[in-house]
Amino acid sequence: MAFTLSGDDAIQTLQPSPIPEPYWVAFSASAAKLVNIALKDDGYPQDDAWLDVLAGNALETQSLKFSNPIATVYSGHQFGVWAGQLGDGRAILLGDINGQELQLKGAGKTRYSRMGDGRAVLRSSIREFLCSEAMHALGIPTSRALAVVGSDLTVRRETMETAAVCARLAPSFIRIGHFEHFASTQNIVQLKELADLLIDQHYPDCRDSKNPYLNLFQKICERNAKLVAQWQAVGFCHGVLNSDNISVLGLTIDYGPFGFLDQFQVDHICNHSDQGGRYAYHRQPQIMHWNMACLASAFIPLLELAHSEAESQELLSNALSEFPVIYGQSWQALFRQKLGLESTRDDDIELIERLLQAMHDSRVDFTNLFRKLANINTNAPVSEIKLRHDFIDRDSIDQWFNDYIARLKVESTVDAERKSKMNGINPKYLLRNHLAQVAIEKAQQKDFSEVARLLQILENPFDEQEEYEEYAVPPSPDLAAIEVSCSS
Ligand code: AMP
Ligand code: MG
Repeated sequence: MAFTLSGDDAIQTLQPSPIPEPYWVAFSASAAKLVNIALKDDGYPQDDAWLDVLAGNALETQSLKFSNPIATVYSGHQFGVWAGQLGDGRAILLGDINGQELQLKGAGKTRYSRMGDGRAVLRSSIREFLCSEAMHALGIPTSRALAVVGSDLTVRRETMETAAVCARLAPSFIRIGHFEHFASTQNIVQLKELADLLIDQHYPDCRDSKNPYLNLFQKICERNAKLVAQWQAVGFCHGVLNSDNISVLGLTIDYGPFGFLDQFQVDHICNHSDQGGRYAYHRQPQIMHWNMACLASAFIPLLELAHSEAESQELLSNALSEFPVIYGQSWQALFRQKLGLESTRDDDIELIERLLQAMHDSRVDFTNLFRKLANINTNAPVSEIKLRHDFIDRDSIDQWFNDYIARLKVESTVDAERKSKMNGINPKYLLRNHLAQVAIEKAQQKDFSEVARLLQILENPFDEQEEYEEYAVPPSPDLAAIEVSCSS
């Protein structure tokens, strides 16, 4: 919602830069509902002016006028190193509709663009669009994507590509990096304004607390701890967990070289540019905790408004130490649900970890394994379980299945009931990289049908969609090797 701060260096009021001859690449009817856009039967807006608005070519529809588009400054730690000032180098906030900020990513240069061209390529815009909507359907907090608008405008990356604009929605796009910016420039007035704005608009309960800023920090940590547990539970790797890509609302934001796990490998690295594996799957919780420590540092001046330096540090450090506890509890609860366990037993964690270790050793497909686990008949012998053939060490996995079935028998649920609950948490369809790649390659030839089809499938990730069975099949080894990097 409204983003205003005093001083004129934190926000730039500007117009998006137009793109030549824009056309629709993709549109989410479900996201359009959030902002009350009336649609035609074909799923696109009734009011044609939306195409120009979402392209960055106009600021008015029949019923709305965006009179104050802005770009904001932020800073951040990139790959663990302080990068200094960043900011919305290519994202322009058009305004608010119905409690949602409408932001155009790739809408041209801003004061904060540094050496960049202010644009985003079609490829990365389609990936962001599809993954935002897929994550939402998975029940994972995320910014939403309203549309992708394309143009024949070319931009230079490793090769020449065409530009696109991704229109995205979120109650707020404020990041940890915004706080880091004002703390690093020792601009305590704006730091406090930002915290107050966040409390007023998104965390009103903090006002009633004895220590509103500490409470705000605790709530941001809690949301992000729960978020990363949800990522782990669906095998989502963000790829670039820099502090400027972490939302203070606990939303998944800034989709770039993300990837969902195909074959399970705990140290899987999805971002080809991340050579050291800083953002590998198994490191995400630790890295999110690290990012919360960056936020804690930025919050010290806020706590010092009411406490000594030593007290402020102690309060924040105690709050920060809750992160692994909250994360651990969320992770355990989610993986219990993934296994269909409703009661809680101490040795459940060992059972979960033994399975993950076996999956890692045999590189079993993460999504399909959990999905198919729901089919186990607790009254049939282990030798009849088809899934055992996915594992190299049969004796060991048979032992695991024996223990799992024994554990399921402690539950009060019957097989059919358990299956239906498990199918509501273990998705069948995800935006696997190879699926996105097919849609992108067709879109680059101006055929957008596959983007629309994927959107439709991914909007119902827990349903069996018989006609789309092949979209649940893991990639062949050559397709699994598709590389995604920071270039976008
Ligand atoms: P990202 O790695 O996409 O999170 O971007 C990091 C920072 O670089 C953000 O501040 C972006 O606004 C900025 N940025 C990325 N790509 C571009 C671009 N093509 N033009 C201008 N700024 C960019
Ligand atoms: Mg970013």
